[in-house]
Amino acid sequence: MSVEENVKEIRERIAGAAARAGRDPAEITLVAASKMNPAEKVIEAKNAGITVFGENKVQELLGKKALGAYEGAKLHLIGHLQKNKVRQIVGQCDVIQSVDSQELLRLIAAKAESLGLVQKVLLEVNIGGEESKTGACPDEIRAILDAASGAKGVSVEGLMAIPPSVENNPEKTNYFAKMYQLFVDISAEKYDNVTMRILSMGMSADFEEAIREGANMVRVGTSIFGARNYQV
Ligand SMILES: *Cc1c(COP(=O)(O)O)cnc(C)c1O
Repeated sequence: MSVEENVKEIRERIAGAAARAGRDPAEITLVAASKMNPAEKVIEAKNAGITVFGENKVQELLGKKALGAYEGAKLHLIGHLQKNKVRQIVGQCDVIQSVDSQELLRLIAAKAESLGLVQKVLLEVNIGGEESKTGACPDEIRAILDAASGAKGVSVEGLMAIPPSVENNPEKTNYFAKMYQLFVDISAEKYDNVTMRILSMGMSADFEEAIREGANMVRVGTSIFGARNYQV
């Protein structure tokens, strides 16, 4: 199937999942996760109606951006951000979805302030408590929000998570529901520079389930672009 057909199918499935959950499909943002796909593929997806792209690596993002791949669309960094890449990415994308420590948040804020801009970010939560995963533990999130309150250079817009895969979740814990609860709880609290608008969770394998549990942003790669070729 072509990228265009895939996008159409994903949009239909998002609409179906939203309808079943009694929600308006228009409130759910589809982010095309375009890692390892060349600029031409990004443009193909844009022509198929994709309005937001997510990239994992700063270098790859900047490279495709220089080719004009994302022009007219929004761009998010969804992969782990190393501290030494902060100065390269701040101001180069609309949202950094992967802030997982106070230190990283402060570095982003400082760079943004020096550029005279406000960087939108999401806090990445390691909701499954997996050692191998990035993201802050749920009980560290308030400290990061406190740090954001004093940081003019950032605006925290919500939460992001990559819950454990099926194999790593034998107890079948509903991590999407846990994330939604955290999102609701924080929404009721008051922090400067924080508005809980976005709950980013769900990928190719599970975005319908994520929508059912309250996601309003899903990040889909394989089901749009096909399997990634890790050989090249
Ligand atoms: C690759 C990636 C996705 C998309 O994964 P698929 O299974 O290909 O849909 C979503 N989020 C992040 C952070 C990713 O790295």
